[in-house]
Amino acid sequence: MNIVTSGHLPPYRSLAAEDGAAIVVRDLSKAFHGRTVLDRVSCTVPAGQFVVLLGPSGCGKSTLFRCLTRLVEPDAGSVAIRGTEVTALKPAALKALRREVGFVFQQFNLVKRFSAIDNVLAARLAGTPLWRVLLRRFHARDRQLALACLDSVGLLDLAYQRAERLSGGQQQRVAIARAFAQQAELILADEPISSLDPDSSENVLQILQRAARERGFSVLCSLHQVDLAVRYADRIIALRGGRLFFDGPASAFTPELREELYRAPRP
Ligand code: ADP
Ligand code: MG
Repeated sequence: MNIVTSGHLPPYRSLAAEDGAAIVVRDLSKAFHGRTVLDRVSCTVPAGQFVVLLGPSGCGKSTLFRCLTRLVEPDAGSVAIRGTEVTALKPAALKALRREVGFVFQQFNLVKRFSAIDNVLAARLAGTPLWRVLLRRFHARDRQLALACLDSVGLLDLAYQRAERLSGGQQQRVAIARAFAQQAELILADEPISSLDPDSSENVLQILQRAARERGFSVLCSLHQVDLAVRYADRIIALRGGRLFFDGPASAFTPELREELYRAPRP
């Protein structure tokens, strides 16, 4: 899908998959102040699937997310996103890649004073000089496509409402609509439902699941709730103490594995 296109932006650089995987992580390691946080983690997010990342607090989930687009530089190992070796990219290409990926955060990270539709449009301009000026000059066609993204998360009626006047669940859906408008067809969502009530949480997971099933998006999403992961995800990746614990179909994540994953480490 190539939803929002703008005459002001450089042409779309295709992120064609070489091996059919959206993300391939190989032997990724990261230490902070000499303490290992990720220890030779290898895992894969197949294209067009909804993959949930599980693991106890502090096991390295957010660090793994940040390493994927080098918001944190890994110490060793490699990351490929749709066949592009992220770990080899020069700064300009890395910035371009980050602009194409749809990031969804626990705290929504919307521009509060902007309307929902402007939040969707602004994402395409992030990092561009004069983006506030350019935002006003988006073509009608871009606006139509941004509205289509908001419609697909059930927010067409609230497209011109300021973000700060929306509920948490609605703001998170704007963030997903914004991700739909990005070009990489890849959503990285680090704990997107942690600050939402149960109904909004399920709604967000349904939308992410549909993004994979109906739009062919690849989604990596960290969660605390194993039940929801098993219910909604195609695959589960689990980390324990910075090491890969599981990478497989959600249906293969048994209650025994779940118990083992969250068991306190032996002293
Ligand atoms: P999770 O998201 O699974 O809860 P994190 O990736 O946030 O785990 O953190 C894993 C470990 O790495 C934690 O012990 C955390 O304190 C540590 N950590 C994360 N980021 C940094 C950092 N920038 N500097 C130092 N320690 C960090
Ligand atoms: Mg985290």
